[in-house]
Amino acid sequence: MIQNPVPWPNGARCACVISFDMDADSLIHIARPEDAHDRLYPISMGRYGPTVAIPRILDTYHRFGIQQSFFLPGWCVETYPKAVEAILEGGHEIGHHGYLHEDPIEAPDQRYWFERALAAYRKYCGGTPAGYRAPVYNINQEVVDLLVEHGFRYESSMMADDIPYRVETASGGFWEMPVHWGTDDWPPFAHYAEIGYMMPVKAPSAGLGAFWEEFDAAYEAGGFFMLIIHPFLTGRLARWRQVEAWLEETLRTKDVWFARLDQIADHLDGLVARGDYTPRVEHLPYYTEPQGGDR
Ligand SMILES: [Zn+2]
Repeated sequence: MIQNPVPWPNGARCACVISFDMDADSLIHIARPEDAHDRLYPISMGRYGPTVAIPRILDTYHRFGIQQSFFLPGWCVETYPKAVEAILEGGHEIGHHGYLHEDPIEAPDQRYWFERALAAYRKYCGGTPAGYRAPVYNINQEVVDLLVEHGFRYESSMMADDIPYRVETASGGFWEMPVHWGTDDWPPFAHYAEIGYMMPVKAPSAGLGAFWEEFDAAYEAGGFFMLIIHPFLTGRLARWRQVEAWLEETLRTKDVWFARLDQIADHLDGLVARGDYTPRVEHLPYYTEPQGGDR
């Protein structure tokens, strides 16, 4: 049960997004700045995303007639302009995802990284992105304030609800498109010793099967289903073949609305403007000092 379900367009029962974070080889450059440029295995693993997986994913979306949201670090936008061009040509959306996939909690001076990435989107993507997703979801108050300052319409790194909600601060707010680890392909499919991940890789059916169980619950409740996945992981042949089969079946048999996150923000803004929906609000900052008192 969802307390405050969103009325989706045309009475659709569930809004669906298969969002991709195209991190490419930014992950190794930020993790091993001294010698990453000569680590050819992780570089090539990352390059599989923009060069092999992205064309495959875009072809699928084209055949099914859907547009979706992609998040790219600014450095990836500069380094892989062909992938950027193909994504935009397909009518998809590119969101802000840091500059070199720096973790906001660990990278001091977020304004520098955030605005360096913004310059890349403005140059290669034709403007300021509508949305943001923090590298490793590690958003903090400094980034929240930058999002408000730069007029971002939505954010997608936090986990306080099943469905989109409002985040409000003293100076403004945005829509939150909530994520969670159960619909992220990093836990089932990433194995990346160089950045500290040593997980057993699951079979495609096992890893993806967990996502479809999440969809079934969201559909039953009349909610919001979003995958947060990576081209170099889920864009590989055996996994993507199963995503394609799920998409085909879902579009044929279910009453769903596949949309980009900025389109979902448009829809929510329209509902609120017409007085047809009152979203739940989370007020930030949550805390302004360490909790727990003297230790
Ligand atoms: Zn990422």
